[in-house]
Order: sequence, then structure tokens, then C-alpha cells
Amino acid sequence: MSSTKIDLGVSFDNSYANELKGFYVSCHGDKAPTPVLVKLNQALAEELGISNSSAEQLADVFSGSEAPQGSAPLAQVYAGHQFGGFSPQLGDGRALLLGEVVDKSGQRQDIQLKGSGRTQFSRGGDGKAVLGAILREYILCEAMHALGIATTRALAVVTTGEPIYRTRYLPGAVLTRVAASHLRVGTFQYFAAQGEEDKLKQLAEYAIERHYPELKQTEQPYLGLICAVRDKQAELVAKWMLVGFVHGVMNTDNMTISGETIDYGPCAFMDNYDASALFSSIDQDGRYAYSNQPAMAQWDLARLAETLLPFISEDADDAIAQATEAIKAFWDIFKCHWLEGMRAKLGMTLELDGDYELCQQLLESMQGQAVDFTQLFRQLAVDLVTDSNDVESLFTDSKLFMQWQAQWQARLEKEPLSTAERASLMDAVNPVYIPRNHLVEAAIEAAEERSDYQPFEALISVLANPYTLQTDKEEFSLSAPASFGKFTTYCGT
Ligand code: AMP
Ligand code: MG
Repeated sequence: MSSTKIDLGVSFDNSYANELKGFYVSCHGDKAPTPVLVKLNQALAEELGISNSSAEQLADVFSGSEAPQGSAPLAQVYAGHQFGGFSPQLGDGRALLLGEVVDKSGQRQDIQLKGSGRTQFSRGGDGKAVLGAILREYILCEAMHALGIATTRALAVVTTGEPIYRTRYLPGAVLTRVAASHLRVGTFQYFAAQGEEDKLKQLAEYAIERHYPELKQTEQPYLGLICAVRDKQAELVAKWMLVGFVHGVMNTDNMTISGETIDYGPCAFMDNYDASALFSSIDQDGRYAYSNQPAMAQWDLARLAETLLPFISEDADDAIAQATEAIKAFWDIFKCHWLEGMRAKLGMTLELDGDYELCQQLLESMQGQAVDFTQLFRQLAVDLVTDSNDVESLFTDSKLFMQWQAQWQARLEKEPLSTAERASLMDAVNPVYIPRNHLVEAAIEAAEERSDYQPFEALISVLANPYTLQTDKEEFSLSAPASFGKFTTYCGT
């Protein structure tokens, strides 16, 4: 091991480590037996200013084996409601914050390792991650980013050379995750549960400074923080809904203060539209099913609001009344984003009465019809320009859909656009490519079983431009074959 630290070419500026003593424990990653950099997100590395490091050095750093120059590695503490039940202490059980870097666009970013070993918060866990889950997160979060949806990013994948036992031995790996911060609703809940009001206030001030500095000048910055997070989450969840994404584990420790999607454990994009789509093996009651997502986000936000009550008003009833009003408003804000998105998906530029109902009716006509959600919207635009009605063949029974279609067509007559203009606007917001579960699984299997990263590379390359029809890439736009069966996802793998 060299005595001088590896220099990634970036200057770390570790505000969390410096300003929030008592909110974390300093620690270091495990030394990986044979770290190999199997993927570096070049574009993201450039944005962060990472330069002049060899693949070996990056493997050492991004496996957790060596802390780079300027980093102050730590594990953050947090709490959280998991499936409705409160765990007063969670924390980074297998994640290590290397530090923060201000990227080329001036945005402060956390650089965090996931799977680098046990920390004080590991409880019974091994602190490790397996290659399959790491590749899954890489594919899904980068696809999310390319879709234009706020998310944590994936910077690197390193295999450690250490077999990790799950239901069998699997190759160990570490993901380097980049995030606007790793502050969660659960971070606030931890200090609230401890009754540490001073720390809670310090945390809220830190969150405001880092994510919503415009609130500092306002009269009610803490209520403002609740509203700001609410607004971000309402927009985020609306965007998930518009692309058929099911997060799967919307626990309060998985809701970020920044409004970025985090935790790609049990999530999936649905092929066929189903309001109750659910993939997680452990979500027996469907708490986090597709159509429950806005309600669950609102529930999580209420947990955030609870922690900030003491700072909203000295009068407890008044604080509750103000926070309640803020949280109640979530639903309207969500609806607004959703409707705006649905209008765009359906080529409607005007805002007319009845649009919300019209959009809802489309979903109702799709329920139980095994209609591919992503293909449907692209096909609507294709049919417009070719003056055909191939979309109908996507339905088992198209009766309800045809009624809807007649209403939609009548609605379009009120619009100023030409058909070609409308179709191209629709194509700009309706993806051709989403991370199809069968393709994600095939890419993982090839890497895990045969160290073949070609399917992974091919998939992320197509998903990097989800709104553009790409030549010879039709297979990436198709639903899973029937032989793929029902898709199930697992937490914490
Ligand atoms: P998650 O399911 O990823 O949201 O994690 C919930 C909690 O479990 C967090 O405190 C994680 O840090 C912790 N955790 C998940 N997987 C592991 C693991 N393999 N080892 C240690 N802690 C873990
Ligand atoms: Mg999590």
C-alpha cells in the first residue's frame, strides 16, 4: 500500500463532516481482496472533475480499500419508518460517505460507497453488496436520469473479488453513488426520536443552506422546508407515475430532502399497465403499489413535518395546524404535475376542463388489459401520423379504450397544432426505452455468471437516449416474453 493518498484530482469540501459533528461516525471501508473497476461513468466523472487516476487507483478508492486524498469517510445515522413501523436507529449500514465535491456546474455532490463493509449501523448485516444489485442500481438510476427524473447517480462499479453469501455465494461489488445529499426524512426522525431539539434545528439549518438557501430570508424557514420538500416530492412521484415506475420501498429513510429518487432495491418499471403493480417480495399488503405512491409520499412527508413542529410555532396546536395544511396541499400539487405530464404525453397543449378525468379514463381503460404502458403512448403518436389505429391491437378488449379514444380525438380538435407537430411533442416526452425487467435481469446474469458486461453496456447505451427511436434496437422496446413470468424484486440484496 502506498503511503501517499490517491489523488482523484478533485478537492473535497466535506461540509457534513465539518459542520455536523455528532451526526455520523467516522469509519473506513474494508480492504477488497482484488478490486477491479468494471464500470466508470465517464461523463459523470468529468462533471465531478475526476481526472488523472488509473483504473487501479479508481478500483482501490471506489471499493473502499483506500480513502482518497481529502476525503473524510463517515457513516451517517438516521432512523425511519419501514413499512409503517418505526425503527429509531438505522443509519448507513453498508454505505460510506467519502465526502463532498462541488461539480463543474457548481452543485455540491456527495460521493458515497455502497457495499464497502460494516459500519456502526450495520446491525445484523454484512455491510456488503452483490454485483447483481449494484448493476441493477446502475442501470435503473442512470435510466432515470436520462428520462429527466431527479435521482442519485451511479459513478462507478467495482468488483471486490470477495464472494458474498446471500441465498448462495455471489460476486461482491461496491457502487459509487453520487447524490445532491444523503439527507433523508429519516435523518430528521433520528434526532426527533432522541429528543435532541438543538441537533434537529442544526440539521434543518444545514438542509436549508444546502438545498433551499432561498428559505433563509423568509419568516418561516422550517415550514418552508416542509413545503419545499413536499413540492419536490410531489413532482418526483408524478414523474415516476408518468413513466410507470414503482419504487417499491418508500420508507421514510428512502425519501430524500433534495427530492432525488434514492434506493433502487426493490423497484421496477412496469411493462403492462396495472394500477396495483407491485414487485417487491416483502410488500404483502401492497403498501407501495404503483397507485399508492402519491399517498405514501404524503404519509412520509407528514413524518418529516412532525419532526419540525417545535420550530414552526411555540403554540403546539398552531404548529400542527400549519404543518397539516402544508401536507394536505401535497395532493393538489401532485395532481398538477401529473396532469401537466399526462397532457404532454397525450399531445394536449391547452388546459381545458375535463382533462383530468380524460387522463384518468385512459388509465381505467388500460386496467386488466395487459397493455404495455410505454408502448401505448408511442403508438398513439405513430397512429396519429400514419392515420391508423394499431394501438387498438395492444388491448385484449379495446371497447373501453375506443370510447376513450373518441373523446380524446374530440379533445384534440380543440388544439392548435398540426398532427405532425403534436406527434413530435408527444414523442419528446414518451420514452421508447425504459429499463425492461427481463433485459435488466439478462444483463445482470451475463455479468454475474460469465463476467460478460456486453449486455449491460448495450442496455445502458440504449437507455441513455430513451426518447429517441434508435436503429436496430427494437428488442429494447418490447415487453418481456411470456416465459419471463411474474417479476419479483428483493430488498437489501
Ligand atoms: P435499505 O433497505 O437499503 O433502505 O436499508 C435499510 C437499512 O438497512 C439501512 O440502515 C441500511 O444501511 C441497512 N442495510 C441494508 N443492507 C445492509 C447490509 N447488507 N449490511 C448492513 N446494513 C445493511
Ligand atoms: Mg435505503
